This record gives sequence, C-alpha cells and structure tokens, in this order.
Amino acid sequence: MSIQLQRRGILCIVSGPSGSGKTTLCRALSQSDPLCDYAVSCTTRKPRTGEVDGKDYHFLTREDFEARTTRGELLEWAEVHGNLYGTLKSAVLDRIGRGEDVLMDIDVQGAELVRRNPDPVISGALIDIFILPPDREELEKRLSGRGTEDPEELALRLRNALEEMRHWRAYGYTIVSGSPEEDLRRFRAIIEGERCRTSRLRGGEEIVNEDQPDFFS
Ligand code: 5GP
Repeated sequence: MSIQLQRRGILCIVSGPSGSGKTTLCRALSQSDPLCDYAVSCTTRKPRTGEVDGKDYHFLTREDFEARTTRGELLEWAEVHGNLYGTLKSAVLDRIGRGEDVLMDIDVQGAELVRRNPDPVISGALIDIFILPPDREELEKRLSGRGTEDPEELALRLRNALEEMRHWRAYGYTIVSGSPEEDLRRFRAIIEGERCRTSRLRGGEEIVNEDQPDFFS
C-alpha cells in the first residue's frame, strides 16, 4: 500500500526593490512549475509598453480600485510610487485551499498586511522571501536598464528601493540575487523544502493504524 498524503498550498510572498529581479523570478517559476501560480495584481498604474491587461496586471481606474477595496475584494493593498496596487482574494484563497501554490509579488507594506491577517488558512500557508540586489551599482544598472521610466521616476524608484531594502530582516528567507539561473535554483529549493513541511500535509492515518495489515506486512 502506498502512502497517500494531500498537501495544503503555499502562499509565497516575494518582495524586493524594483530592479531586484523578483517579477522575472516569479514568472520563471510559475511558467516552469505547474503547481505554482502567479497571483495577478490590480493596479492603477498605466500599462508599460508590452504589458497585457489580465496577464501582467489588472489595470484599473482609481475609482474601480477604491470600489473593490470598499467591497472587501482585496486581500491587501498599498500605495507604491504614487499608484495603488492590491491582490484580489479570488486570486489566492481558493487556490491554496485546493493545494496549489500561489506567488504574490508585492511590496513590503502589503507583505506586512498579509502577515498580520488573522485567518489561519493564510497564516498556515504563508512564507515570505526577500530578493536583495547584489550591490548598489547593479541595482542602479538594472533600474535604468529597463528604460521604462523617465529620470524623475527613476530617481523616485531608487530612493524607494533603498527604503524598501531596510525591511529585509522581516522575511523568513532572503535571496541575494546573482544570475537568473542561480536565483531560480534557490527559489525552487525553498519551495520544494516548504512542500515537504509536515504541517502542510494531511492524511496518512494508515501509517499509525496497525489494523491495516497491507501497510505493515
Ligand atoms: P511595478 O509598477 O514596477 O510593476 O511594481 C511596483 C511595486 O509594486 C513592486 O514593488 C511590486 O512588488 C509592487 N506590487 C505589485 N503588485 C502588488 C500588489 O498586489 N500589492 C502590493 N502591496 N504591492 C504590489
């Protein structure tokens, strides 16, 4: 008789400054791992060139965003770089209940709100990872290399990045970013380890049930 264990899903928060590579990392994991899904956030920021509504973000007007917060549709939300960002409960809760893993690419304020959420389904599922850039020079290079922001926005993002990095010790795991391959290998290792955590596993009554001769024979 083989042991049949079901697993509760992981709710994985990934934070780090703009330019740390966290969005690319979350995308890479969710594309290569069928059990891992990326929670598409809502934002009032304008789409960048190439961004697709419903895939990169749900792009909303401020009115629509605020109406959703009033209706209690968001698990968390925060104002970042002057725009509103938030995660829909519907993008997270059913999935972790089904044993799927969900990646949330959110800022440090949103992460703190999720940590303080009293729902045991959330606290039992939660892990958090901070992605640090290797050094300031690389951070500046990555921020300006995207070419998507004007100089004023870039300066704001650099200031915010340095501020955001002050919170890294609040996270259970830290990855100092190296090559995309190294980052993905470490990220996968964390998720694989968390999948084996005993507290996530259900079933297995047969393991201690000596009335089931098949298993013990
Ligand atoms: P960007 O505009 O560069 O896509 O994202 C800016 C920042 O907003 C990033 O730090 C990103 O992690 C954060 N962010 C994206 N989605 C969410 C969300 O749903 N909630 C919160 N709190 N932050 C988010």
